[in-house]
Amino acid sequence: MADPRGFLRYRERELPERRPVPVRLMDWREVYEAREKGTLDVVSRQAGRCMNCGIPFCHQGCPLGNLIPEWNDLVYRGDWQEAAERLHATNNFPEFTGRACPAPCESSCVLGINQPAVTIKNVEVSIIDRAFDEGWVQPVEASRQTGRSVAVVGSGPAGLAAAQQLTRAGHSVVVLERDDRIGGLLRYGIPEFKLEKRHVDRRLKQMRAEGTRFRTGVDVGGSGEGAMSVEELRSRFDAVLVATGSSAPRDLPVPGREAAGIFPAMEYLTQANRLVEGDTLEAPISAEGKDVVIIGGGDTGADCLGTALRQGARSVTTLAIGTQPPVERDESHPWPTHPVLFEVTTAHEEGGDRSFLASTTGFEVDEDGAVTGLRVARTQYRDGKRLPTPGTDQVLPATLVLVAMGFTGPQQEGLVEQLGLVTTSRGNIEHDDSWETSVPGVFTAGDCARGQSLIVWAIAEGRSAAAAVDRHLMGASSLPAPVHAGETALTV
Ligand SMILES: Cc1cc2nc3c(=O)[nH]c(=O)nc-3n(C[C@H](O)[C@H](O)[C@H](O)COP(=O)(O)OP(=O)(O)OC[C@H]3O[C@@H](n4cnc5c(N)ncnc54)[C@H](O)[C@@H]3O)c2cc1C
Ligand code: SF4
Repeated sequence: MADPRGFLRYRERELPERRPVPVRLMDWREVYEAREKGTLDVVSRQAGRCMNCGIPFCHQGCPLGNLIPEWNDLVYRGDWQEAAERLHATNNFPEFTGRACPAPCESSCVLGINQPAVTIKNVEVSIIDRAFDEGWVQPVEASRQTGRSVAVVGSGPAGLAAAQQLTRAGHSVVVLERDDRIGGLLRYGIPEFKLEKRHVDRRLKQMRAEGTRFRTGVDVGGSGEGAMSVEELRSRFDAVLVATGSSAPRDLPVPGREAAGIFPAMEYLTQANRLVEGDTLEAPISAEGKDVVIIGGGDTGADCLGTALRQGARSVTTLAIGTQPPVERDESHPWPTHPVLFEVTTAHEEGGDRSFLASTTGFEVDEDGAVTGLRVARTQYRDGKRLPTPGTDQVLPATLVLVAMGFTGPQQEGLVEQLGLVTTSRGNIEHDDSWETSVPGVFTAGDCARGQSLIVWAIAEGRSAAAAVDRHLMGASSLPAPVHAGETALTV
């Protein structure tokens, strides 16, 4: 156990300082102050609050089964290198989860029953950042080569976790990605101020050194330049893992939707991330000087908000169709469940207005076909549905509208249709308990199989699917499988 009296001596959570809002709005860097050597003492003190519970509920909260009390103890004792080893034992990419995970482990921490939970996520990111700084993160080479080949289609966290596991098991692994850069939503969805892309790049450097090969601009099942047919895919590889994400955006088919100035959130976020990467000098869709309305109050909406504020929007309003969640756990979400709470993300701290129970009924459009406003009615709950209340319409001014209403599932045309993969009633790729799809030798993991979810689930499923692919190729596998097919999803 870390410090037997730690949780009694230190009752408060201590988290890193965030940079002042006016300063951070002037750049795209992560919102937290750079980690100084002295701040590691605070992290050790916080790790010392861990009670090393007989039944560590934090394990149950984490889809990866992270060995949280073990690395809390090691950090408290100052053995950061061994802590990094234990962290990597269950998680290929703690630098991503340590930054962007909603931390269901903290919601289920036993200390959270009557005190603020242990700052698990901050301990995690502090360990991995120090490990990279100290040069402890080195390539892990396979002890033998199997001579078997695997194609991983899609380079988001699910594909990357699976590729790293399979390479380390000695297979020849190629990641095929249709975009021009590797990373999936880590690269082009999540903004730089939440996850700087240098963290993705340094992990890819390790993976390349281990032997994983990456090919970008390859649209498997597509038809344009650089497309790879599914016949070629099947003939060139002994096994295939489909980790193509959930990319079909949920639309809002109300009058005026076709007006100029209304975009799916991902189109907006992708081009903003490309600007930060230096691909363009100006954002093709800019919020500068505009009245921006974001439809959808989730994490994607918050990412649009932070981006629009950095681009100099005149005003930003976020609309959510449902009721405002409570600020604290209520009886419908008892410990140790992950509660739905009124979330104030770093983007919400930076500005903008939020409106709940807001149902968009149509768009106002000028004579040139550009959006000028939204008609919004108060939501009412009827027969289990959320519907606009007649006669409550108001018009909100809007010259840029971002639709952040989530995704309906993986793209069906192309890969899914051509491979003939059976899908569920929700359009996700169906698989058995071994992550194998309806087509023998083709496996799946991540958002395309589970539906829109979280980085932590993508990594967990990628690891589990890798174990299944290894077993399929070799008859047995010693790779760990943290999650079982069909576990319930937490969604963003
Ligand atoms: C804006 C936004 C913000 C988010 N923020 C968070 C957050 O803060 N925390 C969190 O935990 N989760 C967050 N999520 C969710 C998280 O990013 C996803 O759950 C996770 O990335 C899913 O990983 P994946 O590997 O399954 O798919 P993805 O990351 O979507 O990657 C799939 C990849 O497959 C590629 N691909 C698709 N089809 C083909 C094909 N035919 N051929 C070749 N390549 C193909 C795509 O180009 C893409 O690169 C966010 C999601 C969005 C949209
Ligand atoms: S539940 Fe909380 S206090 Fe208990 S072992 Fe996990 S992190 Fe430590």
